[in-house]
Amino acid sequence: MARKNKSSKRTLLIISLVAIMLMAFIYNSKMFERELPQIFINDIIYWNLKKPLNVKISDESGFKRVLVQLSDGENSITLFNEKHSAQDKELEFNITFPKKGFYSKKNQYTLSYEVVDHSFWNFFMGNKVIKESVIIVDKQDPIVYTVSNSYKITKGGVGAVIFKAEDVNMDEVYVQTNFGKRFKAVRFEKDGYYIALVSWPREQKNLLNAEIIATDLAGNIARERIRYYLQDKNYKSSKITLSDTFLNNSIASLARDIADDKTQDMNALDKFMFINDSLRKESVETIGAVTDNISYIPYLSLEPFYPLRNGAVVASYGDFRTYEYGKEKVSESYHLGLDLASTAGANITSSNRGRVVFAGDNGIYGKTVIIDHGLGIYSLYGHCSSLLVQEGDVVIAGQMIAKTGKTGFAFGDHLHFGIVIQGIEVRPEEWMDEKWMRDNLFEVINNAKSLINGEK
Ligand SMILES: [Zn+2]
Repeated sequence: MARKNKSSKRTLLIISLVAIMLMAFIYNSKMFERELPQIFINDIIYWNLKKPLNVKISDESGFKRVLVQLSDGENSITLFNEKHSAQDKELEFNITFPKKGFYSKKNQYTLSYEVVDHSFWNFFMGNKVIKESVIIVDKQDPIVYTVSNSYKITKGGVGAVIFKAEDVNMDEVYVQTNFGKRFKAVRFEKDGYYIALVSWPREQKNLLNAEIIATDLAGNIARERIRYYLQDKNYKSSKITLSDTFLNNSIASLARDIADDKTQDMNALDKFMFINDSLRKESVETIGAVTDNISYIPYLSLEPFYPLRNGAVVASYGDFRTYEYGKEKVSESYHLGLDLASTAGANITSSNRGRVVFAGDNGIYGKTVIIDHGLGIYSLYGHCSSLLVQEGDVVIAGQMIAKTGKTGFAFGDHLHFGIVIQGIEVRPEEWMDEKWMRDNLFEVINNAKSLINGEK
């Protein structure tokens, strides 16, 4: 009796052990996985019906059935219905809008998906997921037209444009140029109107082409070319021969000052090339990064810039310099600011109100201040001996911001004055000229305002 009891206990134990192991097997087995199939598609889809919608599905055990239906609220049409025996773990397919089937054209539909996988879970029924997306049909291109623009852009200079861009599902509005730069636009005067400043970079070999682009969430695009008269300009080109004395004295000590860790093992010529190429590129990128934004200002009020009292021009904007060493060209650069000199340590003032976005060391530019004046317009002050403002400060017109010096790649006390438009260093001379500012900016703005407000 005792023995029989013992053996049946053992049988029971074995059965329960097997049962537990089986359950553990089922629970952990891939055949019985409990992960729901995943459907990669947005909850709200804006669709222009031109491009097919791409649907991606993934599941650990593959799909048994995939059903996609489109409903207008009354009727429902099957767009995709497939049974799969193969254990495809990933499935990607396109669906197009049915040409026939809906009686009335609506602009909102519901797309529903039902996916069942090959898992043995749920008593061999598999995991099932049901999902819905709202489809908003939008076949309309945005409306885009120019309201007013500057008549011309000079190479290295700037032009303004004010335009209308409208769409119920607007995504992005900007000005695209043929040299890759995208200028941001900001609201102007009323909803649906925008302003942007566009520049034709000094270094560009090609003529400028600028287009206003508006895109909506359904992928419709509208573009309009801005009709600027393009005025080419001959900038000065000069050849500079590097002497050993210059390299061994001036450049060697400059390298020690501004890039010691990176140049200490280099010979004097390599030090020069490092400063004029790599370090210049880095410094220009820093300027680009802090001046990329276009801040909104309700009204623009700018005086011509006059940063240094009685400053004499010692180098112009746009000069192209080629450097030679032993009759061989070793480097080149564009001078993208206006160099002004007065007495050493002279006061530098900001002629306009703005917010300081940079105050510190910037490679070849030395101690530098950059001020945001709104609309993507920034002023830059390089080679300073001391800075009197800090990042984040709001300066008023006429405020002293720094003192001239020769920090960075400079060999005499002077101010490198720059105007930067959304990351691009442009001709400062335009922004120091009252007539240029009136013709190219304020008249364009006033003209647009009267057109928009219907006074004309
Ligand atoms: Zn300069």
